[in-house]
Amino acid sequence: MTTTFPAPIVLSNSGGTAPASLTALATCDTRAWLAAGNWSTEEEKIAADCGTATHTALAAFLRGNATPQARQEAEAVFEAVWRGPAEAIDPEGPLARLTYENTATILRSWFDRQSLTSLTKINPDLVEIKFTLPLIDDCVCGHSWNHHPDDGHCTRDCGCLAYQAAVVFAGRLDAIVTNMADGALYVVDHKTTGSVTDWWLKKFRLDAQLTGYTWAAA
Ligand SMILES: [Zn+2]
Ligand SMILES: [Zn+2]
Repeated sequence: MTTTFPAPIVLSNSGGTAPASLTALATCDTRAWLAAGNWSTEEEKIAADCGTATHTALAAFLRGNATPQARQEAEAVFEAVWRGPAEAIDPEGPLARLTYENTATILRSWFDRQSLTSLTKINPDLVEIKFTLPLIDDCVCGHSWNHHPDDGHCTRDCGCLAYQAAVVFAGRLDAIVTNMADGALYVVDHKTTGSVTDWWLKKFRLDAQLTGYTWAAA
């Protein structure tokens, strides 16, 4: 007979298909609840897909060590991922900013101006790192980690066969780069938005995402 335990609670900052986004929760719990139930609007979904396409392209750029050839590859990746889905967007409609032509232009201009490579050393192996870290010692069976020798079955006779943290912090780091000025490692996270406003820039000040990612990277 196998005993079943509840699934771990996953706290995440990655957005997308994550069960719960800590940032969304901190900003607006109603919005977080809607996103967790996939109740986002069509506009939010398309914008999120475009953000994902951009991240895929930037990851290709960093994995290729940010060389001119890597830039070409990144632009090709973006075209392969986004040209098709973006065809559904009406260039005269409210989502015009997300058309392939417009977003590809923005990506090219970002490559023309971006300073990441002049200030930091890219570590091509440290790109798009997925992580899941336990936030508490308790296992899903309700007993703590030290009742599970070698992460194996629980000694409390509850039927648990392997330790699985009950609450985990999950995410994906865009990249870890080395700052050339001080040799220290930094967590990079790329953000996409329709318009760079004061409000948009200020909202990151209290955003726990980078603090959490820095903790995870350490
Ligand atoms: Zn257990
Ligand atoms: Zn147990």
